[in-house]
Amino acid sequence: TIILGIETSCDETAASIVKNGTEIVSNVVASQIESHKRFGGVVPEIASRHHVEQITIVLEEALQEADMGWDQIDAITVTEGPGLVGALLVGVNAAKALAFAKQKPLVGVHHIAGHIYANRLEKEFTFPLLALIVSGGHTELVLMKEHGSYELIGETRDDAAGEAYDKVARMLDLPYPGGPHIDRLAAIGEETIAFPRAWLEDGSYDFSFSGLKSAVINKIHNAKQRGETLKPEDIAASFQASVVDVLTTKTLRAAKEFNVKQVIVAGGVAANKGLRAGLQAKFSETDIPLLIPPLKLCTDNAAMIAAAGTIAYEQGRRSGLDLNANPSLLLK
Ligand code: ATP
Ligand code: MG
Ligand code: FE
Repeated sequence: TIILGIETSCDETAASIVKNGTEIVSNVVASQIESHKRFGGVVPEIASRHHVEQITIVLEEALQEADMGWDQIDAITVTEGPGLVGALLVGVNAAKALAFAKQKPLVGVHHIAGHIYANRLEKEFTFPLLALIVSGGHTELVLMKEHGSYELIGETRDDAAGEAYDKVARMLDLPYPGGPHIDRLAAIGEETIAFPRAWLEDGSYDFSFSGLKSAVINKIHNAKQRGETLKPEDIAASFQASVVDVLTTKTLRAAKEFNVKQVIVAGGVAANKGLRAGLQAKFSETDIPLLIPPLKLCTDNAAMIAAAGTIAYEQGRRSGLDLNANPSLLLK
């Protein structure tokens, strides 16, 4: 099967062609980061406008790079949610127009299913598997017993991990998106500050990052008031140590409890060097294989949507031309 994927849920306009759900034939991503930087975050209205400008170009490039024509495409898959509604609508409408004009099956895909399936572009899944999802809007542990089936076993009760990274980065006057900057600073800093770890109740697989974020903000304010200087790299290292400690500990505990055969990591924060190293260290002491996608497939792209879309397509799922963007779509 040759599947076209389209992704416009946030600030990247992306199109990709994937073969058999495992092999990238082309993967085009037009990032808008430069346009949103001066606002310190994604401005929804600007995002929608950029998607409108980019979508046709990105689609043409995806076909060109693959050296393929429409007759070779079996289905069109597109992120239907969650995300920014105005941004999602651009991809959904492009997909619907193409499905109608080229007479192709249409399949709506959940953005997080996409992040999960980015891993299958690296290696085949073995079930049951546990997915740690750490992105700009989500922090979740999902148990998968088979393709296309998702059981939520824990999630954040407040901020997502990526959101916490971006907010702490803003406090340190680092540019948007702040995650990669904190990551870079953390590598040269030391854990000199003991920030709290939000373990929550015994046995809980939920997460919470707002307390940690407040602790970091308070620490910075108090130091300023007392005229003390804290090294930004030490703040970054101490913050990251808390995030990585909680994420890796809960993931390992869940992997053991649910007896999984594979652990996969997904979402933008999966690009974090501290998290990657922390997970590798913990899982190297077990016989549970750990899979982390290459950096390029961690952040938003359309290859992951085509990969998740391939499974949905093969399982017979179809969307009608009444497909709509759903900003709060649930993963199920
Ligand atoms: P969602 O997928 O939940 O809808 P999103 O698509 O905006 O949200 P992603 O594109 O998956 O999120 O990831 C973006 C997030 O990843 C940002 O918060 C960014 O700061 C964070 N991020 C990217 N690289 C790193 C890194 N090296 N360390 C920490 N965070 C990172
Ligand atoms: Mg993004
Ligand atoms: Fe994402």
